[in-house]
Amino acid sequence: MSLAEQALSYVRAISPYQPGKPITELAREMGIPVDSIVKLASNENPLGMSPKAREAVEKAISGVERYPDQFDLIAKVAGRAGVAQSQVVLGNGSNDVLDLIARVFLAPGRSAVFAQHAFAVYPLATLSTGAELIATPAKNYGHDLAAMRAAIRPDTRIVWIANPNNPTGNFLPYADVRAFLESVPKEVIVVLDEAYNEYIPPAERVDTAGWLKEFPNLVICRTFSKIYGLAGLRVGYALASLEVADLMNRVRQPFNVNNLALAGALAALDDHEFLNASYELNRNGMAQIVAALERLKLEYIPSYGNFVTFRAGDGAAVNQKLLKQGVIVRPIGGYGLPEWLRVTIGTERENARFIEALEKAL
Ligand SMILES: *Cc1c(COP(=O)(O)O)cnc(C)c1O
Repeated sequence: MSLAEQALSYVRAISPYQPGKPITELAREMGIPVDSIVKLASNENPLGMSPKAREAVEKAISGVERYPDQFDLIAKVAGRAGVAQSQVVLGNGSNDVLDLIARVFLAPGRSAVFAQHAFAVYPLATLSTGAELIATPAKNYGHDLAAMRAAIRPDTRIVWIANPNNPTGNFLPYADVRAFLESVPKEVIVVLDEAYNEYIPPAERVDTAGWLKEFPNLVICRTFSKIYGLAGLRVGYALASLEVADLMNRVRQPFNVNNLALAGALAALDDHEFLNASYELNRNGMAQIVAALERLKLEYIPSYGNFVTFRAGDGAAVNQKLLKQGVIVRPIGGYGLPEWLRVTIGTERENARFIEALEKAL
């Protein structure tokens, strides 16, 4: 009998996550220099990390012989969100937090609801517990909240919502999300993943943390991987009711966020100059890429994130032609969108490289 046959059948059934292609991998494959490659595949911050965060990380290197202390980052996150410190759960990236929620509430015989074309980690987190995944059809490539509400069964414990969604960039009006929270049974956890929250125009942004008082079944997830530019450090967090946060902390590895990540995240929260620059760069870059897509008469999904998804025709073929020119974007056939490609907004020069390569590829 093979070892695979000894494994849990629901683990064997999981299809592996496909990350964006690393620059170094394309360089090896195509024999092109690393410096000539443009990677717009993983929604990373094209400005790099905040200088303040870099300084803090460098300082924290002396101290890595000690186990980390999460206190300062939790205190700052709680203060900013206006919640109690015991309502904050830190994660090794927000993916870690998604996993913690799944481990607390899911198991074989239970189910979770998510939307077609929603973030790939929701199926992973769900299926790794042996719970059943209920996928509802997308509406205009985004979440259909009415269909999601209707899909909730007595054994459903979690509903996963990404707002904005990755990889489609769709944004649900806050009023709709609130109405959804009001409509779901109180014992169903609603995970509101706001990884791209900081890219939403401030005038349109609503402070969802303020909803936690009313909805103890709400769990909000945020990350330092996107606008804060710390994807490689791995740090994110959940805001939850005291009861749910306490449960999540019971299954959390005590030292799940390392010293460098804690220091970097703490400093990044205060680097308003860097955050504003990142926000502005994204706005301008989005306009630059969208204008090119319109000029090329390519359909795209209006996006509230730091990326935009467009219909390339044969997504795999266009992707190959982009790779040959040293441009890495994200094919999303695995999301059920084989004709589409997702491109992360880069610097003006990176965007121009992408546009030029795309024109050649079409
Ligand atoms: C990028 C992303 C995250 C963040 O993942 P990390 O583990 O924090 O790097 C979470 N949710 C969505 C929808 C994302 O696109």
